[in-house]
Amino acid sequence: YAKHSRKTMVQMFEPGMDERRLRRQKLAVSLQAAIEQDQLELHYQPIFRLNSGDIESVEALLRWNSAEHGFISPLEVIAVAEQHGLAHRLNEWVLSQACRQMHRWHQAGCGWLKVNVNISPNIFMEGELALTVSAVLRDTGLDASTLVLEITEDTSMWDTAGSLDTLQELRELGIEIALDDFGTGYSSFSHLRQLPINKLKIDKSFVADLSTDPRAESLVKTIISLADNLNMTVTAEGIELVEQHVLLQQLGCGLGQGYLMARPMPAEAMSELLLQDKRYGSRSA
Ligand code: C2E
Ligand code: MG
Ligand code: MG
Ligand code: MG
Repeated sequence: YAKHSRKTMVQMFEPGMDERRLRRQKLAVSLQAAIEQDQLELHYQPIFRLNSGDIESVEALLRWNSAEHGFISPLEVIAVAEQHGLAHRLNEWVLSQACRQMHRWHQAGCGWLKVNVNISPNIFMEGELALTVSAVLRDTGLDASTLVLEITEDTSMWDTAGSLDTLQELRELGIEIALDDFGTGYSSFSHLRQLPINKLKIDKSFVADLSTDPRAESLVKTIISLADNLNMTVTAEGIELVEQHVLLQQLGCGLGQGYLMARPMPAEAMSELLLQDKRYGSRSA
């Protein structure tokens, strides 16, 4: 086996390959094994109603602590997966893991809780997402209305005819769609008008500058009223300071997440937080 794996290494790591590609190649080999052996993890970050402090939903965030490579940021994991043909399997793993966990929380009395799952633009554009999602919902028994898919804006995304179809198929399943990192991408007003989007998430770069930059405040204010006018809910990402929380509340931002309130955490810790949450059990009654 050692001989065989050495041979594979030699074939894969040709001289001249730059360092980054080399690292990604190695990561891809480990990632494939990690997916197959269930070594990936999801952490969950609660999203709160800013007015009441109640938990509204959780965002599932990928975590890979590799025995060989240490902690790899989710953005790098996604990039590796996309470059090496693992994106579909990874997406399926994330979706089914998140839905299974959410179904457990529903059965434990948190039937009101929603889960947000990030979907990369490539997966979204490929056109099979609705099929994958409905299979996962069927397998896990999760109520479609408690699943929110977060997609980031991407230049080419909305020009693909299939994207609108996918979006509509997903909406027909009863799933909600959130535009992630809103304000940093390429969505135009006409896209917002045409697309069946339910939620906007204000990118954390705007929130970070909120208390120091009046322009950031104006932009956040504009995004909030835009969302209101289009009947979308709005979530602020990356709330780290009390001042940001206060200001967002004053500006009428309904929902927020950030280190100030809670960091992403393993499912077990999230379960405990839900138990402490005052409304635990009361919503389903
Ligand atoms: P995102 O979807 O915009 O997720 C929010 C990111 O902000 C997360 O980073 C979260 O840990 C971080 N965050 C939350 N609160 C704060 C805060 O108060 N301050 C700061 N500085 N950061 C905060 P994370 O977990 O490193 O994920 C990075 C990105 O990777 C995500 O950004 C998302 O685009 C992508 N990602 C994560 N998990 C998945 C996944 O399962 N699938 C896909 N396709 N992408 C994922
Ligand atoms: Mg997100
Ligand atoms: Mg974001
Ligand atoms: Mg993002």
